[in-house]
Amino acid sequence: MHATNTLAEANRQITICNACRYCESLCAVFPAMERRRVFPDESLDYLANLCHNCGACYDACQYVPPHDFAVNVPKVLAEVRSESYARYAWPRGLAPVFHRNGVVVALTAAVAVTLFLGGFVALGDPGVLFAAQTGPGAFYRLMPHEAMVLLFGGVFLFAILALAMSVRAFWRAIGGGLLTTADVLDAGRAAATLRYLDGGGAGCLTEDARPDTRRFFHHCTFYGFLLCFASTSLATVLHNGFGWQAPYPWYNPVVLLGIVGGIGLVVGPVGLLRAKEQRDSNLSDSRARGMERAFLVMLLLTSVTGLLLLVLRATALMGMLLAIHLGVVFALFLSFPYGKFVHGFYRSAALVRAAQEKRMPVLGSDNS
Ligand code: SF4
Ligand code: SF4
Repeated sequence: MHATNTLAEANRQITICNACRYCESLCAVFPAMERRRVFPDESLDYLANLCHNCGACYDACQYVPPHDFAVNVPKVLAEVRSESYARYAWPRGLAPVFHRNGVVVALTAAVAVTLFLGGFVALGDPGVLFAAQTGPGAFYRLMPHEAMVLLFGGVFLFAILALAMSVRAFWRAIGGGLLTTADVLDAGRAAATLRYLDGGGAGCLTEDARPDTRRFFHHCTFYGFLLCFASTSLATVLHNGFGWQAPYPWYNPVVLLGIVGGIGLVVGPVGLLRAKEQRDSNLSDSRARGMERAFLVMLLLTSVTGLLLLVLRATALMGMLLAIHLGVVFALFLSFPYGKFVHGFYRSAALVRAAQEKRMPVLGSDNS
């Protein structure tokens, strides 16, 4: 018995694949599948999070519809993957957020921006909000630094805790063992290069046989995010370690990292949103589209408002832009453990598990 119809269907299709094995060289999913004879829900969650949805196995398969076997591995694993995020969510009471993610994230962002704007007016000097502010500490005339640290530090720590608890539950369910440096490095290389998004070396194609650009735009998004994170972390060090208050001059590494990262976070999400439109909808989980778009739009709003704040920070628009940017970032942080952001952690955990399994003897007694 499986917990959901999606898992039962995934079990049916993966059992056919395990007899066929034609696609075994395409990605990490098939070697992991071949180590098993039966597929309990946890194994299907594991395989689903190993899959990068490149679509190569659908193109190669002789059993896709209208064949009676009706095999569509990318789609069924995408559906299992979406369900798995909710299954391991922490705390359990917030799991339903995954089902209405687009609506919840949009509402959270709207409320957060309104509260920041209202807070700036109600708790500070409204004149400051609409007047040009310049020089070190300009931002903190609208919101004290201590209040920013408390608010964003709190929501960030909660997001880290919720993500850690969720991934821990997933890791235990898929039978993850003690971590070794070699396994983590192997998985890290696969994740950082998106090794399994290349369709087994042939490269991914869109529905009309054009090269799939998702890898390039995913790299822009991922590395753009890391650079923005590095910029914020460096700003924290400069403020607390050296007493240098933002805003910083354009040549400061905080600003340079933010500019390059921000551009990556514009180019990447825009490209991924476009690539998703061009992609064969038959290969993805239609129920997860709201969640995927909400995450990309939130990243885009974060980078656009951040870059606008940089360009217009010496003008009277700075206060308004700061409130909007902080509201968007706050909502983004809050949505991290309950949206598409989690896919990076689940996939990385699955890749580490695959690296561990590679060192184990091939199937014989393993029925996990
Ligand atoms: S996807 Fe199709 S061709 Fe590939 S292993 Fe499964 S059944 Fe065989
Ligand atoms: S990564 Fe690509 S080839 Fe592998 S299971 Fe997923 S869609 Fe199929």
